[in-house]
Amino acid sequence: MVRLAELPQTSTSIPLKATLASALAVGSGGSSGSLADKPLLKDAYGKLLIPGSQLKGRLRHECEKLARGLGWAICRSPDPERMCPKREGIDGHFDRPEYQVEGYAGSHCLVCQIFGNPALPSRLWVADLVCEVPPAALEATLRPGVTLNRRRRTAEDQRLYLIETSPAAELIFSGSLQLLPDCPPWGKALLRVALHHIGALGGSKSAGLGWLHWDPQSLAALQPNDADWAFLAGGGS
Ligand SMILES: [Zn+2]
Repeated sequence: MVRLAELPQTSTSIPLKATLASALAVGSGGSSGSLADKPLLKDAYGKLLIPGSQLKGRLRHECEKLARGLGWAICRSPDPERMCPKREGIDGHFDRPEYQVEGYAGSHCLVCQIFGNPALPSRLWVADLVCEVPPAALEATLRPGVTLNRRRRTAEDQRLYLIETSPAAELIFSGSLQLLPDCPPWGKALLRVALHHIGALGGSKSAGLGWLHWDPQSLAALQPNDADWAFLAGGGS
């Protein structure tokens, strides 16, 4: 567990703000006194939240796609065997000097240098996105869903379930990214574009749930400089 008070004072904090454009379904999967099979996640005060771990996973996935697109060799998360520094079964040019990290053996791709791997600690900490609207003012909605059989593309028998969603209101969620002092400077550039690419969070995206847009100030706070863009553009060289 990361305790905020123990984070180094020199870490860079990027405030994040997102406005929901549709109802949200972030199910905890367990029962919490709700009628729903997939109740919404809430913090200790009953406020709706999107877990930082989920946002971090999405950011990593987007960063991987972007870095690969720029020509960098990137390992395959989340399987530890296929991640740096092991990378079992993965081809690619991982011997570049850009993949050396001071104090750590082996080579570590750009994405691992931000998000970490079994041998390298993460240099990014992602806080939960919390909705500030008092829970009493929110009327949660239950929506029926069915489990689909992917192979037959039909609904499974006895597989009706209830999803709890937030009301379809423009709710604002706030959180933050903490870039630890040893996070590489070009990390901001990659994270900025990755964040820009995340248009929905939570489940049931295809059912129109969880669509959101980021506050322009959040993206502006990740403003990198020309040298950072130039570094990232050098992936194919
Ligand atoms: Zn890696």
